[in-house]
Amino acid sequence: MPRVFSGIQPSGELHIGNYLGAVRNWVQLQDQYECIFSIVDLHAITQPYEPGELSARTLEMAIGLLAAGLDPDKCTIFVQSHVPQHAELMWMFNTVAPLGELERQTQFKDKSSRMESVPAGLLNYPVLQAADILLYRADLVPVGEDQLQHLELSREIARRFNARFGVDFFPEPKPLLTPGTRIMGLDGEAKMSKSLGNTIGVLESPEAIWEKLRPAKTDPARKTRKDPGNPDVCNIYSLHKHFSDGATVTDVATRCRGAAWGCLDCKRVLADNMIAHLAPMRERAAALRDRPERVRAVLEAGAEHCRRLASRTMAEVGRIMGFLPPGM
Ligand code: ATP
Ligand code: MG
Repeated sequence: MPRVFSGIQPSGELHIGNYLGAVRNWVQLQDQYECIFSIVDLHAITQPYEPGELSARTLEMAIGLLAAGLDPDKCTIFVQSHVPQHAELMWMFNTVAPLGELERQTQFKDKSSRMESVPAGLLNYPVLQAADILLYRADLVPVGEDQLQHLELSREIARRFNARFGVDFFPEPKPLLTPGTRIMGLDGEAKMSKSLGNTIGVLESPEAIWEKLRPAKTDPARKTRKDPGNPDVCNIYSLHKHFSDGATVTDVATRCRGAAWGCLDCKRVLADNMIAHLAPMRERAAALRDRPERVRAVLEAGAEHCRRLASRTMAEVGRIMGFLPPGM
């Protein structure tokens, strides 16, 4: 059975971009493939973060994933730093990863432009991502569109490793994309990202969802209620497509074009539909927060399984690369 690997950073709240672009897909895939999903804390530390908050965020991300529908009886869920081989394989890959390609990655350019001093770990982020995937020799990687470039680099690293050592060991992982799901942030300017604070959390309260939607960017042509708008350039309209039914979506477009209602009315309908859509997940999360020991047990079982798989890969990598085995 093909193996699937994907990850999400505990760099903030699980947001609707993550959900629509990736996690919703993961929930489907766990019925069709052998799936491994990781909360990638080693990636999250490449951005500014608060050490005192990391463990709580990691646990909260696990709760979010379980609440979204990942089922530990059908897939493996674990925390990346609990499997030390990720960092180990990354080091091996650093010796074949092309520096020029790393410098050309859009995510690196975006994130480094917001930093005064750029850590090498941010540059090497995609090398760690290649290690995450290839440690399990995964065939398929479900990601949002923003990660396609990184995945291409993982394929390149697999090819270079195989060519350098004359083996056919690592498969070239292929993307599994949910088409058209690059969710824009509430600022209407950049993709929705945990690190940009332009998100709506999947587990947020109805009040918080409304507070965030209310000031969100719409078509700038609608300066007053009487100005007709163009739904095709409005992020609120594109969110309606994900959370409202077909008839409502058509109605929203007509009312916007004809200036038959204001943006706030449009947002209220979206908020109600979004709140209803997310309610079951919020309830499941509340139940899980009451049983943190159960969440920890899921993560521990996941890590144990992954450490076993990872140590097999690393033994083979050590042999291929010519290291002296310990104890010889
Ligand atoms: P950060 O800002 O810290 O990079 P993020 O919000 O981009 O966080 P990641 O943990 O980097 O989230 O990505 C997790 C998954 O969510 C990836 O598969 C990624 O492709 C997907 N994803 C992230 N943002 C979006 C978005 N705006 N639309 C669709 N998919 C997204
Ligand atoms: Mg990201």
